Amino acid sequence: MHADRENDGTEGIDEDMIVTQSQTNFICPITQLEMKKPVKNKVCGHTYEEEAIVRMIESKHKRKKKACCPKIGCSHTDMKMSDLIPDEALRRAIESHNKKKKRHSE
Ligand SMILES: [Zn+2]
Repeated sequence: MHADRENDGTEGIDEDMIVTQSQTNFICPITQLEMKKPVKNKVCGHTYEEEAIVRMIESKHKRKKKACCPKIGCSHTDMKMSDLIPDEALRRAIESHNKKKKRHSE
């Protein structure tokens, strides 16, 4: 006999968490607004509004400073422009999310 099927009732909760999290990921940690052109930092995996993060990195580098990831709790402290890649999947997710809530405006 074997008792490898322990049922403690914790399974199934995670899926709801993922849905809620993907909603908050629409928000840029710099502007606190929903992103229009999200770019992903391939080093730490965080996403930001392209315009905001580019401006932030440029202004830091102009002052010969390192650009830290603006996401709270992230320990990545030396961001480079070349680390940023467009996040097409997220952009499309935001677009379809907006289509649902917008009325016919065109
Ligand atoms: Zn980060």
